[in-house]
Amino acid sequence: MTVSDTLVSFAAAIERYEPVIGLETHVELGTRTKMFCGCTTTFGAEPNTQVCPVCLGLPGSLPVVNRAAIEYTIRIGLALNCTIAEWCRFARKNYFYPDMPKNFQISQYDEPLCTDGWLDVDVDGKTVKVGIERVHLEEDTGKSLHVGGATGRIHGAEYSLVDYNRAGIPLVEIVTKPVPGTGAGAPVAARLYVTELRDLLRSLHVSDVRMEEGSLRCDVNTSLAPRGAAQWGTRTETKNVNSLRSVERAVLFEIQRQAAVLDAGGRVIQETRHFHEDTGTTTSGRSKEEAQDYRYFPEPDLVPVAPPAEWVEQIRAALPEPPAARRARLRAEWDLSETDMTALSNAGALDLVAETVAAGASPADARKWWLGELARRANEAGAELTALAISPAQVARVSELVAAGTLNDKLARQVIDAVLAGEGDPDEVVRARGLAVVSDESALTRAVDEAIAANPEVAAKVRDGKVAAAGVLVGAVMKATRGQADAARVRELILQRLS
Ligand SMILES: [Zn+2]
Repeated sequence: MTVSDTLVSFAAAIERYEPVIGLETHVELGTRTKMFCGCTTTFGAEPNTQVCPVCLGLPGSLPVVNRAAIEYTIRIGLALNCTIAEWCRFARKNYFYPDMPKNFQISQYDEPLCTDGWLDVDVDGKTVKVGIERVHLEEDTGKSLHVGGATGRIHGAEYSLVDYNRAGIPLVEIVTKPVPGTGAGAPVAARLYVTELRDLLRSLHVSDVRMEEGSLRCDVNTSLAPRGAAQWGTRTETKNVNSLRSVERAVLFEIQRQAAVLDAGGRVIQETRHFHEDTGTTTSGRSKEEAQDYRYFPEPDLVPVAPPAEWVEQIRAALPEPPAARRARLRAEWDLSETDMTALSNAGALDLVAETVAAGASPADARKWWLGELARRANEAGAELTALAISPAQVARVSELVAAGTLNDKLARQVIDAVLAGEGDPDEVVRARGLAVVSDESALTRAVDEAIAANPEVAAKVRDGKVAAAGVLVGAVMKATRGQADAARVRELILQRLS
């Protein structure tokens, strides 16, 4: 039986069933050092070069809690409207995994640092209040690399390698309460929750939240119950979904699959599932283990965490403006429609535009450059806008030179190309390449006279009132000035000369 045989159309599934979603998000904190030792956390280093006896779990080594990780977690908890525990402990979660050298993970179990908050998510103009069950702190595992197989999974691999650089990096887990009532909007709501959470985490400067590098990872829970049923259905947990789009697709697929199981009189099995990017499908992983299987007990090597109330209040007072409030404020200041603002956010250009405006450009110009010319360059290079080698201040300067008439749009594009190619600041490029608009009237007039002299027949037509023919002369002047003249001014001068 193929996958397509066992799916119900999304519309039909939603007609008969009510979905409930839930999300567990893992965020690698951007602390300089690991959770319980002084090893550095920089991404992309040679395998097993950022390790020590503590994060390798060698005998006799003892962990010490990273204060910055506690502070970052409290910051996240406060931004998510959580209660911060006055006293809590770490717990040992016991299980074997080759990329976990101690054979247990230090995590938090029944005493999480932050509990009971919420995050408002705008779904098609309607606010969905997503309840936050808990925010707790743990250590990340290392990374296994399965070599020689077709899929990168362990099945079919010739051998496996383990990199412990990631072992012990502080990891925050943010668990939502079940979210009912989103109906057909459930897949989109799941994506928008993760988007809003990512923006919030980014604004808090606690993580670089890069899904593609794995510093933000999602497990997506989905269940279905017949409409009007008193109880929610059995949920599945789709693990490690690694892009915003995949979060939406995973929920979409699970709704269609579970509807087919229920339609056929079957029962949804509580299990973890794997998401496949290529097909947008999920397949069965392992049956879901229970908390008791992990033999949690309080971590005996660590003292309890008891953040003083005044410290928590200091952290609260220093929280930045929440992203949703900031978006609303900027939208009003920049006089943008909701659609334009969403486009700006979706393109990842909000901060860039804000910085460009702060550096002196008008909001309209800043938006035009980042969403137009620069978005196109980023697209061509397959890069994020933020990765382009041009700063908001440089874009603001180009915009200023255009507003002052020193550059026209065509020259501005050349300047941007040169800045991107590393030729220096806009002013340096304009000087070095002699790119400024020819605004010297006598030079322009000379060029106009030359064009008229070289094209007597065209000039005669214009004199006879065929004004459209002037375009040829404008073109000749623009060519002679290598595009560095103001075309509108050239046209004026030509028509004056031939009137
Ligand atoms: Zn270490």
